[in-house]
Amino acid sequence: MEEKNLTAAPETAAAEAAPEKVSRNFIETIIDADLRDGVYDRVMTRFPPEPNGYLHIGHAKSILLNYGLAQEYGGKFNLRFDDTNPTKEKIEFVESIIADVNWLGADYEDRLFYASDYFPQMYECAVKLIKKGKAFVCDLSAEEIRAYRGTLTEPGKESPYRNRSVEENLELFERMKNGEFADGEKVLRAKIDMASPNINMRDPVIYRVAHLTHHNTGDAWCIYPMYDFAHPIEDAVEGVTHSICTLEFEDHRPLYNWVVEECEFPHPPKQIEFAKLYLKNVVTGKRYIKKLVEEGIVDGWDDPRLVSISGLRRRGYTPESIRAFVEMSGISKAQSIAEMPALEYCIREDLKLKVPRVMAVLHPLRLVIDNYPEGQTEMLEASNNTENPELGSRQIPFSRELYIEQEDFMEVPVKKYFRLFPGNEVRLMNAYFVTCTGVDKDGDGNVTCVHCTYDPATRGGNSDTRKVKGTIHWVNAPTAIRATARLYENIVDEEKGVYNEDGSINLNPNSLEECACFVEPSLAGAKAPARFQFVRNGYFCVDAKDDAPDHPVYNRIVSLKSSFKPV
Ligand code: ATP
Ligand code: MG
Repeated sequence: MEEKNLTAAPETAAAEAAPEKVSRNFIETIIDADLRDGVYDRVMTRFPPEPNGYLHIGHAKSILLNYGLAQEYGGKFNLRFDDTNPTKEKIEFVESIIADVNWLGADYEDRLFYASDYFPQMYECAVKLIKKGKAFVCDLSAEEIRAYRGTLTEPGKESPYRNRSVEENLELFERMKNGEFADGEKVLRAKIDMASPNINMRDPVIYRVAHLTHHNTGDAWCIYPMYDFAHPIEDAVEGVTHSICTLEFEDHRPLYNWVVEECEFPHPPKQIEFAKLYLKNVVTGKRYIKKLVEEGIVDGWDDPRLVSISGLRRRGYTPESIRAFVEMSGISKAQSIAEMPALEYCIREDLKLKVPRVMAVLHPLRLVIDNYPEGQTEMLEASNNTENPELGSRQIPFSRELYIEQEDFMEVPVKKYFRLFPGNEVRLMNAYFVTCTGVDKDGDGNVTCVHCTYDPATRGGNSDTRKVKGTIHWVNAPTAIRATARLYENIVDEEKGVYNEDGSINLNPNSLEECACFVEPSLAGAKAPARFQFVRNGYFCVDAKDDAPDHPVYNRIVSLKSSFKPV
């Protein structure tokens, strides 16, 4: 590896991990052509979340795609809340979404919008359609509308209210707005084509009566626009050029185009669909994450086992690692499934050179060095990151009593076990060679303490005369900090698959293990989002929620090894 990589600025580590962009993705190809042909003279994209939950890794892809395109073309990027359905929307979600988008680094500058601010324009568009004879007030019930709609193989049937006069429609729509009708009593429908092979075009409902209080507009409105009518208007009002959404909206595109054309927007936006990001064996959908939260199976939307953006943040993922992962997964029209190990690879690559490597013992076992002077403590030097000398070194205390990992000792070693067992010599990382001389046991025969002798000539962990096969880590017992380490596994049982037929989730009973551990004293005062490599145990970060000065809590972000290789 070149020297440049060893000393690279931390921020570039993840970017370098991502494969080089060799060709333009299909969206860039469309935008290139639009600019070349003069369809648009600028680029504006947006991310339009519905504030009905927290964002997840799939949304991160959409955010970074839209923001990235705006940056690439010197255009603008809007964050717009698609808050046209008051039933499920909450301020808590608005706030969390803003925090997540900011954290990801998608800078919308002052371009934060609320679709609900456009209710007057949407109303005007509806009136315009009525005046053009392109929309009508319909008295059919929801069930009747469904029955009249037809099927994929049968055309629909026209509503008996379809031919109301423009005047009657204008008057009824106004009365809908004034609150004269009950919920569901009347709707406004676009007048398109009940025989269209595309069911979305069969006189879709565009406004409904709903006496609801909205988080932004309060009780100002008792009619609310439907998504397919509202969304294109939101885009058009803002001047969005490329309205990028996921594949399930492909069949809605003709309606999108119909709305912007019939409402006569001068530079109508263009909808482009791409495939959603799916992660194999991971709960990604908002609806399912919500279920885990509401049933109290997880510790809120930011539970570190979730792939919500706030969960990933609390787990210790960096924005850079998420960006690298999203780039690695690519943009396409074809549905594909990404894998969790790819995301884990990206965080490892990002942290590898950035964070200090320290010693922590997750499952402690006492070790006493019987020939080390009682009451003496010495300071030993340890490199903070052997692959990145820029991180320097630190002094760590060493004395007669230490903790090591339980798994680093075996009274009766199995084959090829090179760590500590009676009679064997190992290296204590950064310290000395020690040889096991015996053990103490409790009444049940469990080993409670390992006894060793050390060789003072091996200070720093080196010897001119002999080699040892095993190196183990340790912490100095008198100065170690007691902490909790949380080790995570997938929240779902991968063997059984994520969902059952009834939509319930197969839970993994071992998705969270809490250990009472010891960390070296250099970690004193570490605050979230401080990240470390605990040597041999993985990357960890301070938990943002439960960590307290007298009770540190660390989340394992990811273990150190994986068989994953980027393509
Ligand atoms: P979910 O499917 O989890 O319920 P949603 O699509 O209902 O999410 P919205 O708030 O409506 O959530 O979505 C905001 C934007 O994020 C939309 O443009 C949507 O297409 C995009 N998006 C949602 N999920 C994904 C995903 N898995 N991959 C890529 N983009 C996504
Ligand atoms: Mg949605």
